[in-house]
Amino acid sequence: MRKIAILTSGGDAPGMNAVIRAATLKGIKAGCKIYGIKRGYQGLITGEIEELTVETVSDILHRGGTILHSARSKDFKTGEGQKKALEQIEKLGIDGIVVIGGDGSFRGAQILNQLGVATVGVPATIDNDIGCTDFSIGFDTALNTVLDAISKIRDTAVSHDRVYVVEVMGKNSGFIALYAGLGGGADAVLIPEIPPDLDQLVKRIEENDQRGRGHSIVIVAEGLFGGPSGGQVLAEGTAFKVATYINLRTRKDTRITILGHLQRGGSPSALDRTLGTRFGAVAVDLLLAGETNKMVGWVKNEIKVSTMDEAIARKNQIDPELYQLVENLSSV
Ligand code: ATP
Repeated sequence: MRKIAILTSGGDAPGMNAVIRAATLKGIKAGCKIYGIKRGYQGLITGEIEELTVETVSDILHRGGTILHSARSKDFKTGEGQKKALEQIEKLGIDGIVVIGGDGSFRGAQILNQLGVATVGVPATIDNDIGCTDFSIGFDTALNTVLDAISKIRDTAVSHDRVYVVEVMGKNSGFIALYAGLGGGADAVLIPEIPPDLDQLVKRIEENDQRGRGHSIVIVAEGLFGGPSGGQVLAEGTAFKVATYINLRTRKDTRITILGHLQRGGSPSALDRTLGTRFGAVAVDLLLAGETNKMVGWVKNEIKVSTMDEAIARKNQIDPELYQLVENLSSV
């Protein structure tokens, strides 16, 4: 294998640049030519492909986003788009591709694999919903951003005896919300995986009040009511629905904060940098060893390689005991 390409696809995640840097340097060290495909599968179709050098990947490790840009490509879901992508790969003589992204991106990688192109996936999504890995790149940084915001919101919530409903990302996955609830000491966490008990939530806020604690912090995942209304600054948005319910029932001053896309940005955390670096290097090792249709993961503090099929099929599940822990601690 002499020519390896790298692409980032789907939602961007802090730490993607660490993966790109490590994969590039590891490949160059092994004597390969490394290419960067811009804008995910869309750039593969249109031929937005450039060589990556030691210079292009220097000073990017600490930067959020992705220097390769990311996109969601409808064209790649069609046979015509896939044919064009294959033509570009053959034109440049690319032997294998490192695909950095979420489960959708891995479905694209499976298609390339079926077309005879070697692919290895690196899980990168702030949602942390990919199976066969305890952590996906970007989750830890997003969580730290959310915790920083909650600490600030807590200051003003305490001062004004208010209820704050904080909406975080997670269309189908409650990872950010649950871990933010654990690390931020929330009074309640509402996530798509567990049907919300809003009456119980109201009871807890009222109990807080009776104990002389006028403030409460409630974390909701944007996809609590099924995904599409999340993140909207509209009456039908997730945080608004929950806050309206609380306000009507308790009559307490209830405010919302939708953290939105700031959760995607920022300099990657130590974990995302170190894990991203290790994932990128292992992905290239796997391609050089002739492997394909594999994903690099992190399970029980060790690098673990799985098949792409398993990683897609087994969504990362939240631990109900952690959910219960938030519940138990907030109801004391
Ligand atoms: P995130 O979890 O951050 O949303 P993701 O990788 O799951 O990341 P998607 O938008 O689902 O994001 O997928 C990214 C891209 O992968 C799509 O825009 C498309 O180009 C490609 N892709 C997804 N599913 C398929 C599929 N079934 N066939 C071919 N390509 C696909």
